[in-house]
Amino acid sequence: MSIPIERLMAVYRAADAEVAEAAPVCEVSGRCCRFKEYGHTLFLSRTEAELLLSQGLPADSVVNDEGCPFQIRGLCTARDRRPLGCRVYFCDPAYAGRGEQISETAIAALKTLHQETETPWEYRPLIHFLREFLASPSMLPVASGGKAEQTCENHAESRTVSPRLPPGAE
Ligand code: SF4
Repeated sequence: MSIPIERLMAVYRAADAEVAEAAPVCEVSGRCCRFKEYGHTLFLSRTEAELLLSQGLPADSVVNDEGCPFQIRGLCTARDRRPLGCRVYFCDPAYAGRGEQISETAIAALKTLHQETETPWEYRPLIHFLREFLASPSMLPVASGGKAEQTCENHAESRTVSPRLPPGAE
């Protein structure tokens, strides 16, 4: 990763703080990580994907376009590494519009980071990076046996485990 991880994490923390301030409600269904069922796609930058995949995939995970392989038995096994799309989305109707604003600000900050570090900007669906990752396992370790870092219940307490396509992010 060309972007220092602490700078990426600073963008994440800023987005987390804005979400916490907005205080959207989560019903803890976990559906939003099951993309096909929920009817949306998780987009993320290559930089975010590199961080997300930096510890490989959970041992019991399945890679397809149905959902996120990091969700195991309803839990996000990559909570600390999850991308912006997972952090800002909530299905709470009262939060409608606010998530898009937070996302736009965070994506803009991420793009600035790429420019400052002369890192190419690439923004694609998660499944693209997963397939690339599986095709080139030497690039990153696969099946390292991820552990559940946070339950969906904690999502309800503070922030999201939900994926989304931020508007205007491509
Ligand atoms: S929060 Fe994001 S990384 Fe975690 S399981 Fe859901 S979609 Fe995957």
